[in-house]
Amino acid sequence: MSDKYDVVVIGAGPAGYVAAIRCAQLGLSTACIDERIGKDGKPAPGGTCLNVGCIPSKALLDSSEQYYRISHEFASHGIRVKDASIDVATMMARKDKIVKTLTGGIQQLFKANKVTFYRGRGQLLGNNQVVIQNGDDTQTVDGGYVVLACGSEPIDIPVAPVDQDKIVDSTGALEFERVPKRLGVIGAGVIGLELGSVWRRLGAEVTVLEALDNLLPMADQNIVKDAHRQFKTQGLNIKLGCSVTGTDCSGKKVGVNYSDKNGDHDLEVDRLIVAVGRRPNTKDIVGKGIELKKDDRGFIEIDNQWRTSLTNVFAIGDAVRGPMLAHKGSEEGIAVAELIAGQHAHVNYDVIPWVIYTWPEIAWAGKTEQQLQEEGVPYRIGAFPFAATGRARAMEQPMGQIRIIAHQDTDTVLGVHIVGPYASELIAEAVVAMEFSASSEDIARIVHAHPTLSEAMHEAALAVDKRAIHKAN
Ligand code: FAD
Ligand code: NAD
Repeated sequence: MSDKYDVVVIGAGPAGYVAAIRCAQLGLSTACIDERIGKDGKPAPGGTCLNVGCIPSKALLDSSEQYYRISHEFASHGIRVKDASIDVATMMARKDKIVKTLTGGIQQLFKANKVTFYRGRGQLLGNNQVVIQNGDDTQTVDGGYVVLACGSEPIDIPVAPVDQDKIVDSTGALEFERVPKRLGVIGAGVIGLELGSVWRRLGAEVTVLEALDNLLPMADQNIVKDAHRQFKTQGLNIKLGCSVTGTDCSGKKVGVNYSDKNGDHDLEVDRLIVAVGRRPNTKDIVGKGIELKKDDRGFIEIDNQWRTSLTNVFAIGDAVRGPMLAHKGSEEGIAVAELIAGQHAHVNYDVIPWVIYTWPEIAWAGKTEQQLQEEGVPYRIGAFPFAATGRARAMEQPMGQIRIIAHQDTDTVLGVHIVGPYASELIAEAVVAMEFSASSEDIARIVHAHPTLSEAMHEAALAVDKRAIHKAN
């Protein structure tokens, strides 16, 4: 006999585990299934994000940033440090400990909320039965509702087959045992820039090969231009408009052949990261004969309330359309739980913040100037450089800017774009403002503490109306 639950969630990433906890909070009996095993051989709920994504990458970004500061920035504060060196094993152990603490935390949250956790691979059969395969054990559970939150996996390209030794994907790039002397990265997207930055700061010579002619096309190109300049100064060698035509791992190094508008080129690196995007992990999520509609890229098709083509089956997170971001998946998880419990639910896809954790950080919410031009929406822009704030100067980080784009007639804030120190934290004010349909005038009238980086937000809002105080308008 199979166990019965009101809701069965497949996948315990930020979409699935949040959905499961919210269902349980709402009084629904809930099971959550995840197949992932941690480095210690034990179940590791938390998905890509906690295990091999957001968290370990941010741990390494933080460690490498500290190292970079000691080596490049402390001297200007009058702090002399002799012979700073990096112990990669300790850095990795710190990262692994953080991951273990957080995945353990999910299991405790499941217990506290009475979510039943199953380790194993789940597959949806007919009548909302889910079969769970855990080694040789097979078990079946029944869900009144089923939530598919099976996430995504790295895309591979035949020209650079990943062996997790010389050619790695994002997971392998979090595990190097030493700093490669020369590192190649295919793809100057979010992962390529973040992980490229980690190893560059630790001393690797990094070359990033990007297929497109422009960097980060989804971001406001004024901000990207600023960031690109900083990346160049840091020694990140980003080559745009490249087509990788071959790789060779037969020797000690990796040979990479690529072509661009100037012809064919060879590059020799110690390690190569392939970071060309992710695809939904939906291949075997339903059993044979179950007709779950997917698009041609494998994303599960859903309506505007996350309902799939199957009765009482929802899908959320990286497995469905929209940005592949942890917080987007978690909000969908909460929304679906509330729908199942008979409540109303809504996710505002127009105001999902993006953050790229390079230094300077890049963050934005809402529309870019380029999108508004394409849509023919009239706008005004207020821009303010961090260099004109006392706090950024005191921190010795006078780089980047905040750009606020407001509707020309209504003054409603349509987009906020930041490149600079702690953009990741500053974007929250913009998100709150936009959620409340604030105008730039509203932000301009709010008192911002002095001296803080948030004063750049205040000044950018003033600048929309050409009345910034600390710069010429
Ligand atoms: P996932 O996190 O992928 O979780 C799905 C889970 O389901 C996995 O554990 C998988 O093992 C399990 N699963 C799949 N199929 C089955 C099955 N049949 N049975 C049982 N279990 C199954 N996003 C951010 O917002 N901020 C960041 O800073 C950030 N950094 C990132 C850094 C890297 C290196 C990477 C790779 C990604 C990063 N992301 C970041 C993206 C983020 O990790 C994903 O958007 C997020 O994890 C998606 O959540 P999810 O729950 O939909 O899927
Ligand atoms: P991405 O889509 O951000 O970037 C992939 C890049 O590779 C693109 O610029 C693309 O033009 C390029 N590319 C594709 N094929 C190529 C080829 N053959 N040769 C050269 N370049 C090629 O994907 P990603 O960096 O792999 O990250 C995947 C997703 O994970 C992100 O889009 C994001 O949703 C999520 N993520 C988020 C964060 C964050 O929020 N800070 C961090 C990491 C990952």
